[in-house]
Amino acid sequence: MKADNKAIIKPGSVIGILGGGQLGRMISIAAARLGYRCHIFSDVADSPAGRVSDTVTVASYTNFESLRSFAASVDVVTMEFENIPEEPVLYLDQRTLVRPSPKVLSVAQDRLVEKDFMKSIGVETTPYLDIQTASDLVDGVTKLGLPSVLKTTRLGYDGKGQIRLQRASDVSGAFAKLKEQQGILERWVPFTLEISVIVARSSDGEIISYGPVENRHLNHILDTTIVPARISQGVASKAEKIARQVAEKLNVVGLLAVEMFVTGDGKVLVNEIAPRPHNSGHWTIDACKVCQFQQLIRAICGLPLGSPERLFDAEMKNLIGDDVKRWADFIVNPDTRLHLYGKSEIRAGRKMGHVTQLKPLT
Ligand code: AMP
Repeated sequence: MKADNKAIIKPGSVIGILGGGQLGRMISIAAARLGYRCHIFSDVADSPAGRVSDTVTVASYTNFESLRSFAASVDVVTMEFENIPEEPVLYLDQRTLVRPSPKVLSVAQDRLVEKDFMKSIGVETTPYLDIQTASDLVDGVTKLGLPSVLKTTRLGYDGKGQIRLQRASDVSGAFAKLKEQQGILERWVPFTLEISVIVARSSDGEIISYGPVENRHLNHILDTTIVPARISQGVASKAEKIARQVAEKLNVVGLLAVEMFVTGDGKVLVNEIAPRPHNSGHWTIDACKVCQFQQLIRAICGLPLGSPERLFDAEMKNLIGDDVKRWADFIVNPDTRLHLYGKSEIRAGRKMGHVTQLKPLT
């Protein structure tokens, strides 16, 4: 039976996780530390999360038969990625508690809906336009100017589904290259820094926030997170205020990561949101009183949130592809914490693990 919204889901209960990747794995490990059991629903066999969990269902996300037994076997469902088709999530929501809610996912999985939502609550983003045809794109570039970037509205991540438009000659043919019926054109932000803020929100509306961190990308993939972000107190407060506001207005129960651009004149613009644990929060496992993964478990189970207090400054580096071969160098460094995701095959661009270097608190 579906638990009441205010119910406390006690240790010993079963947490269902949609997705079997490294985020699911770290959610499952955090859940186990509090005495919960996890049931992973993944469309791939032998997943990083499946290996550390009690039960695994391997099926397509639209296999409703499997979803029905999954829902019957768990007390609450959360997810490690937001790009899940809406129908299965609604189906699960009728049968069990789904946190964050289908509404939150519907905003986070579409860049246009997401930016319209930000506008509706007075949160600033870069100027953007809905692009449905090649001629919309020509008009859009006239309005927003160059450089700008054309993105798919759905299913883009790590820079996939993005075309940067630098010169007028880049515009013709760009819409066809998108291979989608709908796109979003965004004015390119000449940012000085990319930051993110992760907040957790409970069903009572309590919010805790980690301080802003600085994110460096390489080939569109997060490479390094520097903690804390090298920004002024004023910019940091602005960023935290935005993240709290978005979580509250979206009525998130769980985690929300808000990625933002900081401009030279101190503006903070939201780029995108993710209602789940975020790669830029992995450092919290080793450097905070309570990490992002445990905050998620606490939030979705109706437990009090924990302290996000930072015990160390940190630098988190993703081990991408062959980087992981250097694991033996990292493990001997006393200030470094190594995390490996147990993926059997190394592939270029694949996140294989991460290392967090702990530094004295500044
Ligand atoms: P996204 O998938 O939207 O997070 O984009 C991936 C990365 O591309 C971001 O982290 C930025 O480095 C860059 N990027 C995306 N959109 C913009 C923009 N409008 N202006 C400047 N950089 C952007």
